[in-house]
Amino acid sequence: YLARLRHAEPKLRSFLHVADEESVLREAKEVDRKIANNEEVGLLAGVLVGVKDNICTSDMPSTAGSKILEGYRPPFDATAVKKVRELGGIVVGKTNLDEFGMGSTTEGSAFQVTANPWDESCVPGGSSGGSAAAVSARQCVVSLGSDTGGSVRQPASFCGVVGLKPTYGRVSRYGLVAYASSLDVIGCFGTSVADAGILLHAISGHDSFDSTSSMREVPEFTSKFTSLNILESRPLQGLRVGIIRETLGDGVDENVVSSIRAAASHLEDLGCSVTEVSLPSFSLGLPAYYVLASSESSSNLSRYDGVRYGNQVTADELTFLYGESRARGFGPEVKRRILMGTYALSAGYYDAYYKRAQQVRTLVQKSFKAALDENDILISPAAPSAAYKIGEKKNDPLAMYAGDIMTVNVNLAGLPALVLPCGFAEGGSAGLPVGLQMIGAAFDEEKLLKIGHVFE
Ligand code: GLN
Repeated sequence: YLARLRHAEPKLRSFLHVADEESVLREAKEVDRKIANNEEVGLLAGVLVGVKDNICTSDMPSTAGSKILEGYRPPFDATAVKKVRELGGIVVGKTNLDEFGMGSTTEGSAFQVTANPWDESCVPGGSSGGSAAAVSARQCVVSLGSDTGGSVRQPASFCGVVGLKPTYGRVSRYGLVAYASSLDVIGCFGTSVADAGILLHAISGHDSFDSTSSMREVPEFTSKFTSLNILESRPLQGLRVGIIRETLGDGVDENVVSSIRAAASHLEDLGCSVTEVSLPSFSLGLPAYYVLASSESSSNLSRYDGVRYGNQVTADELTFLYGESRARGFGPEVKRRILMGTYALSAGYYDAYYKRAQQVRTLVQKSFKAALDENDILISPAAPSAAYKIGEKKNDPLAMYAGDIMTVNVNLAGLPALVLPCGFAEGGSAGLPVGLQMIGAAFDEEKLLKIGHVFE
């Protein structure tokens, strides 16, 4: 893995920081020693894990892809990272992202653009593009990302890997740099559903450092893979799958539509019944998401004042110091979100924007609930198209936002979703991957993993 990481990195630029090779090998040798001595080793013993750079690590920089945090080294590990390490996982580096998770291509990183391993002229998706590309190119075994409005699922789709967005609250957000706190979750990438499930199992559970993390017991996700007989003729007999009608209409690439329809008939062959369901509030989710995410981010990002963290501009006057540190430290997309969010939260506009968006959020939650009362899972594309060219949407924020239509509703409702490869669209030398999104009921990751494992 280290050799491949080194070899691929100059072209892909998945990592903002790579761990010192000697220390990685030292940790790996320690695992070998334990195994040789019959000592107990953890679930992730010797597994190389990439960590998105908005997740804090005490021994490596954590910049969230922003100049304002350049050189920042947190004094602690995020809870998810701590758990990975306790179980023997080895953090191999910090992966590239759109600044603070705001973006869908990883072009919004203040430091570098990551390339899609399937076609280096294409984006890997985002904001967790570095984590997705690293797993896709086998630069690490699995990786952690974060998903506020699709940032694990869309890059998984673009890079042809498995991406798992857990239920809100399943994984502690302690040490995840906050973007929009009511939507943010840490998620997992792997080359198989089982790998993503094992990583989820490793990082899940209540954490006293995050009051929104759930007290629910974490089921043994991993044993499900071995207990299933996937050679049975109809291993998913009796499961009800709803295909979301609104996700296969205008504006969706025809290769994406045909891949999802083919996936639906594969699920039927495996024993599921598939019916169309309608989520009437689906298209309202996108504007509501951008109002809420921007509003929360404008508040969360007020902490970057040039005093407490990272880069500071020298100045005699305090308000000038704040203003200049922020003006130079934040990139254009982050500034746009702060302005939109501040506007939506202003007295006089609050009812028209923020409050209405919250009302839409309730509608979205209700329509998912109704659909999931009738179905075990819902399916849709993970994105309206496969990966597109670097630069293609960079200067068109609205076109970029529109590409999040398939994923943002799931965050508004806090539900778990799994993305896995299901087909190909035109592009590259071998086609470009298309991902299938499976959405489950809250805290029912188990069912998603089971269906996903049989499906793949
Ligand atoms: N592309 C979306 C945004 O820019 C989602 C990002 C994310 O999930 N972090 O807000």
